Amino acid sequence: MEAVRIEDVIGEYVNLRKRGVNLLGLCPFHNEKTPSFTVSPAKGIFKCFGCGKAGNAVGFLMEHEHFSYPEALKFLAKKYHIEIEEEKITEEEQHAQDERESLMAVTAYAQQYFSRMLHNTALGKSIGLSYFKHRGFRDDSIEKFQLGYAQDTWDAFSSKAIEEGYKIEYLEKTGLTIIKEGKRYDRFRGRVLFPIHNLSGRIIGFGGRILSAEKDKPKYLNSPESIIYNKSKVLYGIYFARTEMVKKDNCYLVEGYTDVISLHQAGVTNVVASSGTSLTTDQIKLIKRYTPNITILYDGDEAGIKASFRGIDMILEEGMNVKIVLFPPGEDPDSFARNHRTSELEEFITEGAKDFILFKTDILRQEAGKDPIKKASLIRDIVKSVSLIPDGITRSVYVKECSVLLEVSEQILVAEINKIYRKRFSGKYDNFIPDPIIKPKSTLLKTEKAEVSKSEGQERDIIRILLQFAEEEIQIPENENNENTGLPVSKTDIQVIDIASYVVSHIQEDDFKFENPIYQAIYDLIFEKLEHGEFTTQEYLINYTNPAISQMVIDIMSTPYSLSENWRKNKIYVKREEDRLQSAVIHSVNAFKSRKIERKLAQHFKEMSEITDEEALQAKMEYIKALQDIQRKINSAMGRIIVG
Ligand SMILES: [Zn+2]
Repeated sequence: MEAVRIEDVIGEYVNLRKRGVNLLGLCPFHNEKTPSFTVSPAKGIFKCFGCGKAGNAVGFLMEHEHFSYPEALKFLAKKYHIEIEEEKITEEEQHAQDERESLMAVTAYAQQYFSRMLHNTALGKSIGLSYFKHRGFRDDSIEKFQLGYAQDTWDAFSSKAIEEGYKIEYLEKTGLTIIKEGKRYDRFRGRVLFPIHNLSGRIIGFGGRILSAEKDKPKYLNSPESIIYNKSKVLYGIYFARTEMVKKDNCYLVEGYTDVISLHQAGVTNVVASSGTSLTTDQIKLIKRYTPNITILYDGDEAGIKASFRGIDMILEEGMNVKIVLFPPGEDPDSFARNHRTSELEEFITEGAKDFILFKTDILRQEAGKDPIKKASLIRDIVKSVSLIPDGITRSVYVKECSVLLEVSEQILVAEINKIYRKRFSGKYDNFIPDPIIKPKSTLLKTEKAEVSKSEGQERDIIRILLQFAEEEIQIPENENNENTGLPVSKTDIQVIDIASYVVSHIQEDDFKFENPIYQAIYDLIFEKLEHGEFTTQEYLINYTNPAISQMVIDIMSTPYSLSENWRKNKIYVKREEDRLQSAVIHSVNAFKSRKIERKLAQHFKEMSEITDEEALQAKMEYIKALQDIQRKINSAMGRIIVG
């Protein structure tokens, strides 16, 4: 990270011009005509004041090039001629790697074999190829998706593969050959085959559709899981769709192999299917690498609709946007694509795309009718979906919309959502989800931010001070801890202390916790280092491996702000230049503590109202009084600074 010059890295993609100490260009992440994309070479970070994206060089590459974290590091290492020492792989790992290669060699061979069978044998042509033609697949599509045919014999493929030198061990591990009671036979017999590609276009498995009308055999048969084929992490068609997904900033999700191919033929190529399994979170995350937008295309039967509900919730939970297109009864994406012109298809799937909330509400409303009990459960169902949206602003927009559609007041919906949150987040501070409780009614959007946490401003100030001024020294009176006065300073008994230690000692003393879990995590890192006598550098946190932390630090560092604003805001006036930082820091610590105590008091008052036992009530009141005393002292100390 020390070798990286962010302006070089970003400069390859964005035309940057000098503006003061920073560089300025047009943001590559949103459309803009006047540049608001800022790069700070000194801090090693970028920030767009238009769309809010910010990060370091690694973050930029991950966002712009869709690299994974290790991929971005490798890219940078190459650029700066730094050799990456990969951990020496153990014999076991080497073996696993060899095995993966061996399995992929088998699947690649199998694909060629099955394609040959399709095109060069009489049965392949009369059964397999004619089936594809009947489905309306063009030659170029059959070629592109490397479709194939497996004859209806016991072990024609396995025998040929062994004859060609492929080991039975690997044939069995890919699932292409099955061994039972000492006899081997082919998994795929009398089926047309759809090879499944990984992200780099290599074949990792197959889906086979039966062509005879035998009732006792499944219509579709898939390769079993293997070390190269993990069903829940693969999407059919992703290799052919990913560039277009980025360009169109949308991904169409369909159910089957033939849907994918038909849509491709019709010119819609940003399409994938979750074949072989129902939609998984890993699959959604895979899509998210390329676009945050998913449009689900499902046929309009009961099963299709119900399947889409589950999918919707999972997609929302990943913070992605989801729309749904429902096809007319009796039609699916495949048949629709075949029976309509490309322009008609495109119009149908863009115009017909319904927002998830409208979709779900419509369907459930029809189901519930006038039954009040059913309607109540419908509302709960929809509220649950809305509660899954991680972004507060989006969530509140949906609350408004729901309120109108369902004819229920916003307050009730918000109360319902908060109930869900309390259940979901009770006592959990370790998952980096900012306090999601939202306030009801009209001030929703405005208060959303402020109400993320009532201590947000004070907490952020503390973190900012720890990030910017940790090593600076201030002078505080020795007895400060007892009286919490802060100022004035008497020359005889002062103590010189670095700001980090000063802040940390105050927070540790009363074991104050940050409400925002990301602040708490940053604080914990700083505290841990300080215990070992070290200061935490901004670089360390900016390049920290947890993106929630590095993102927050970058955000704080790149927001225009100076402590002097804090003085002005709080009417702090001090005479000597060196007293300013000191006053601001002491003020911020006191404000933080005051707010924390205020929160504690509120909690105790609430508890007090529920106490019936006289003795317990007395104890509670004394405790509250003691807290109030402390708070009064802090507030008066703050007042003294203001006057002083
Ligand atoms: Zn931007």
